[in-house]
Amino acid sequence: MERNDKNRIPELFGSLVFNDESMRERLTKETYDALKKTREEGSPLTPEIAEAVAAAMKDWALEHGATHFTHWFQPLTGITAEKHDSFLTPQKDGSVIMDFSGKELIKGESDASSFPSGGLRATFEARGYTAWDPTSYAFLKGTSLCIPTVFCSYGGEALDKKTPLLKSVEAVSAQAVRVLRAFGDKDVRRVTPMVGPEQEYFLVDRDYYEHRRDLKYTGRALFGAKPPKGQELDDHYFGSVKPRIAEYMQDLDLELWKLGVYAKTKHNEAAPAQHELAPIYTDVNTATDHNQITMEMMRRVARRHGLVCLLHEKPFNGINGSGKHNNWSLSTDKGENLFKPGDSPAGNIRFLVFFAAVIKAVDEFQDLLRVSVATAGNDHRLGANEAPPAIVSMFIGDDMLAMLEAIEKEKTYAKKSADAFTLGVGALPSFSKDTTDRNRTSPFAFTGNKFEFRMPGSSLSIAGPNTVLNTAVAEELSLFADRLEGAEDVETEAIALVRETVRDHKRIIFNGDGYTDAWKKEATRRGLADLRTTVDALPCLISEKSIRVFGRHKVFTEAELRSRYEIYLGTYAKTLHIEMLTMLDMASRDIYPAVARYCGMLAAGIRARGEEFSSLSETEELKKLTLLENELYRRIGALRALAEDTESRKGNTYRTALYYCDKVIPAMRELRRTADECEEHIPQDVWPYPSIGDMIFKKV
Ligand code: ADP
Ligand code: MG
Repeated sequence: MERNDKNRIPELFGSLVFNDESMRERLTKETYDALKKTREEGSPLTPEIAEAVAAAMKDWALEHGATHFTHWFQPLTGITAEKHDSFLTPQKDGSVIMDFSGKELIKGESDASSFPSGGLRATFEARGYTAWDPTSYAFLKGTSLCIPTVFCSYGGEALDKKTPLLKSVEAVSAQAVRVLRAFGDKDVRRVTPMVGPEQEYFLVDRDYYEHRRDLKYTGRALFGAKPPKGQELDDHYFGSVKPRIAEYMQDLDLELWKLGVYAKTKHNEAAPAQHELAPIYTDVNTATDHNQITMEMMRRVARRHGLVCLLHEKPFNGINGSGKHNNWSLSTDKGENLFKPGDSPAGNIRFLVFFAAVIKAVDEFQDLLRVSVATAGNDHRLGANEAPPAIVSMFIGDDMLAMLEAIEKEKTYAKKSADAFTLGVGALPSFSKDTTDRNRTSPFAFTGNKFEFRMPGSSLSIAGPNTVLNTAVAEELSLFADRLEGAEDVETEAIALVRETVRDHKRIIFNGDGYTDAWKKEATRRGLADLRTTVDALPCLISEKSIRVFGRHKVFTEAELRSRYEIYLGTYAKTLHIEMLTMLDMASRDIYPAVARYCGMLAAGIRARGEEFSSLSETEELKKLTLLENELYRRIGALRALAEDTESRKGNTYRTALYYCDKVIPAMRELRRTADECEEHIPQDVWPYPSIGDMIFKKV
């Protein structure tokens, strides 16, 4: 970053975004107000307004050097998609002008046939369409104006991650407003989920990356012996950032700031070569778009620095993987955080009701929360003693727990409870963020004024987990609202709701160490779900409960859920298929030949020395390596047999996914173990790949 740039940061911030400021500058007051109303209340746009916005947007984009526009959307691949059209419009006389119509802004036709649809799109109907999401700002990427859009099939079914997210925001807003109104808040109009996703990532040197087909094809090292040093010394976490990485981080910040992303915190993470970036939280729709932009910029900027950014959940065995902590809260249109304990007892009762709704939501929909983070990559993290376990539980801290238990125990003193409770909550403000212990092992932690869902993997779109979280909380709030709206005395009813919730859902609360076997046993005793793999978890998506709750809040239709189930199972199987083929390719073409060559070298050495100078160690080493060589050959054969056995994985997608989970993964693990053992015996100049130690400890 140039010195000049630094002084200009306030000016640069959002300079590549057609944001509120640019709109205010370039639209007539009437158009601006109409658009604002659409943005805030979802009222439909007239064609005239769309035309005016499109014209202003185009002028702004052209002034910033754009030549193309693209509807930017988030298909079920989990990454973003774009198709660029130029603004070029030919005129009758053969000349061209740069044009962009309201129609082009609002709706795009897109060939949907190459995006996963899980059977939603009939084969004869390949068309899908993208529709402008005016609640997320358009921005510039290179010479293209990117317009955030939703993506649907022609029949109107969602083919993307944004549509259900927006619907879940509506659902939780509507139900939260009902609860607030029942408490006497007459002017609240909207409640918005606010999210700050902390993004973990690895950086490795590009030269090393180029030599590793596993990193290139699958994003993770499929082979590689554990280096003598890992993260045992805790010397990387928050350690001083190496100069080349610091330059990368600074460059990344600047690019993100230009795009209006509030990149705020950056530091080294626990594993060597692992880092984190956290933005300042914002509304969940923007946060989701910004997180996609962040991941893309992380990769792009890395290239400029001779680095590669790995966003895989588990690039290297033996050291920590990467996650994405999803910090979530609810905020009213007046900017009040509903999870911030109030100053008055009344404010605290409201806080407790919203808090109870989250406890109940996490308990009742623990399986759906688990499904929302289920991917082949994340299966390496969850439950692997470094990330939260696959069992969903909630950490709320000892103070909060003590208070909830006090409320629960009042149950025999029904009459007096209101007073007792009022007194109890009166003392509540003294508990604060600082006293909530930072329990890193919990999948879902209350951290003072927000909840931190720690299960999402680093490469995941946060749309999925937030869609589930919003919908689950909407469901509980709707049931609470039914009770509160019909209550004679709202406060008494509210306390009853909190007490019942604690009584019936306390099992989900666990403040202890989530990594221990004792907790696993205890969780089973409590009846909590332990869905260890993606294949274990995915069927929950099409359970009766899932279909009911998503249907009730109009977030997913049953057909949409079934299509997602098919797609996610398919993605799981394909991911593993690619990993399997990559392993076979590397093992057969590089690793086995290297081992055989080294055995040959040893044998030639032994022969050349003759009996007189024979070395016992050389003979021993050759014997050992010959055994390993044979074992390696056998394991390659076993995995190849699985790859060729297409018959056994035929049938439905579930059967196929299960085949990879139960058969392929163990065979891959065995092959890796043998290959890694070979690596420990083979000289560096014979081994075909840079070692994991070289990659993560490179001085940069
Ligand atoms: P850490 O968890 O690493 O200690 P913080 O708690 O300060 O760090 O913040 C982590 C993330 O949580 C940041 O992205 C921050 O903006 C976000 N965050 C803070 N307050 C809220 C809130 N009320 N709602 C949602 N996210 C929040
Ligand atoms: Mg955090």
